[in-house]
Amino acid sequence: MRTSIVTGGAKGIGKGIVSCFIENGYNVMITGRDESSLIQCVNDMENVINSNETLNNKISYYVGDVSIKKSCEDMILQCVIQYGQLDVLVCNAGIYPEATVEAVTEEEINETMRINYNGTVFCIQSSIPLLKQSQAGRIIIISSITGPITGNIGFAHYAASKAAQIGFMRTVAMELAPFNITVNAILPGNILTDGLGSLGSDYICRMERKIPMKRLGTPLDIGNAAVFLASPLSSYITGNLMTIDGGQVLPED
Ligand code: NAD
Repeated sequence: MRTSIVTGGAKGIGKGIVSCFIENGYNVMITGRDESSLIQCVNDMENVINSNETLNNKISYYVGDVSIKKSCEDMILQCVIQYGQLDVLVCNAGIYPEATVEAVTEEEINETMRINYNGTVFCIQSSIPLLKQSQAGRIIIISSITGPITGNIGFAHYAASKAAQIGFMRTVAMELAPFNITVNAILPGNILTDGLGSLGSDYICRMERKIPMKRLGTPLDIGNAAVFLASPLSSYITGNLMTIDGGQVLPED
């Protein structure tokens, strides 16, 4: 049975990915800093598994902080102890504090880079030995349209952290290709989650108006794409970007 880790998997986009992986028969280990939301997510997913006779996969959690390398190494150790293998790593944990370039503090810049960029690097580094043992290892990075494609006032530091993930990904994809490990990134547009909701209703209404499909995305929109990138259907796709944004980046004006 294929086994996955989803960082920041208890809420938002991460939980959408976890839900799609569970319904597709993957074992899933979720990680995050808040134990109560991890337990809540595990309970929700166990209910899904128990109510579907065709599923006998497992869900578990590990309390950890992706910005600390030792924590990522311990997460992988737990995965080995519990499942004996790792096939899919999803680097999803991230933050997006809003502040203009004039107002953003040194602490906010460092924290954003530490979690979004360093966290991605540490999780990938720690997982490589196990992914090499998988017949078809997969790394999926949850980046953003902000940075790799667009600018967004109030998010310059965040945009830089998300673009950094892509710069990192391209070389890692080359280094890991000989081991049949693919490395791809999903670039979500605006997806309705707790994190996005905290930016306020004005922000959400402004985004809805700009999206050609006239709605924000859902965590399941991202989860379904992650299932594709984790599956054999995507085995010859690596170093690629998949934009999922209801057409948000398309308009010329
Ligand atoms: P969210 O705030 O709803 O959830 C983020 C999750 O990451 C939480 O479970 C949180 O506990 C976890 N997390 C944060 N810091 C962590 C750390 N140091 N160690 C471990 N876990 C940590 O956010 P979301 O909206 O679901 O965003 C998830 C990812 O998707 C982020 O990387 C974000 O940049 C990206 N993204 C989101 C959107 C969007 O519209 N929601 C758009 C583009 C990209």
